[in-house]
Amino acid sequence: MDKVRIYEVGPRDGLQNEKAIIPTDSKIALINLLSEVGFDTIETTSFVSPKWVPQMADAADVLTGIDRNPDVTYAALTPNLKGFENALTADVDEVAIFAAASETFSQKNINCSIAESLERFAPVVAAANAEEIPVRGYVSCVAGCPYEGDVAPAAVRAVCERLLDMGCYEVSLGDTIGKGTPKTIGQMLDEVLKVARPEKFAGHYHDTDNRALDNVALSLDYGLRTFDSAVGGLGGCPYAPGAKGNVSTTALAHKLAEDGWATGLDFCRLADAEHYLKTVIATPAARTQG
Ligand SMILES: [Zn+2]
Repeated sequence: MDKVRIYEVGPRDGLQNEKAIIPTDSKIALINLLSEVGFDTIETTSFVSPKWVPQMADAADVLTGIDRNPDVTYAALTPNLKGFENALTADVDEVAIFAAASETFSQKNINCSIAESLERFAPVVAAANAEEIPVRGYVSCVAGCPYEGDVAPAAVRAVCERLLDMGCYEVSLGDTIGKGTPKTIGQMLDEVLKVARPEKFAGHYHDTDNRALDNVALSLDYGLRTFDSAVGGLGGCPYAPGAKGNVSTTALAHKLAEDGWATGLDFCRLADAEHYLKTVIATPAARTQG
């Protein structure tokens, strides 16, 4: 069976959008459960300013508190050098940077233009490459922007090209608002695959209109073999009004299995992690803080 890599982003992309602050111990327990599911990479946290994302203020505690499974790569978002250095101190295995394909989204999300954001990331990528830490690039709004509407596939391609040139080993194509359809995702892939082979890209599709799995199926036809998902389908985007969560890891894993793809995931352990997550985010004490 051909293999598809599922890149678990729930502890970061999912939890960062929870309004109630999740206790650090609960995040650690969730990641420990996910570490036994069979993922090769888990995105654990984000070394951003707590001023911007209070949920991620405990990034270093989370990363140093988990029980490391030697078979798992533990990744974290590091938008600037300070974040990268803190992540390195916390023994991160892989880091990620994020740019947008939409100018307005870039301004609203990270307060700078696309070009400025790429300039800001260059030293992070250089520092990571010097430490032999792999860097993943994210591009958001690849199939639509909450502010601008349609996003030109050529704009997505241009950002991908820069991220790959800078030294990212892979670019994750984020349909941040989940408005992509097989038609628009196809048009976008036609463009980005002009700059690199499909192995260089991952699909990161939100499920707003329940089309994430269709978009994954299409992307598989294009040769993509890595897809991001979040346990429990967590995660809208605080800067993208109306955005529903990431595609659920369980839904993605089951669909891939049905279609004959190997994911290497243990569905029972995945169900355990998802069940635990539901107890964490449903805790009334936590909810009242939000
Ligand atoms: Zn996402």
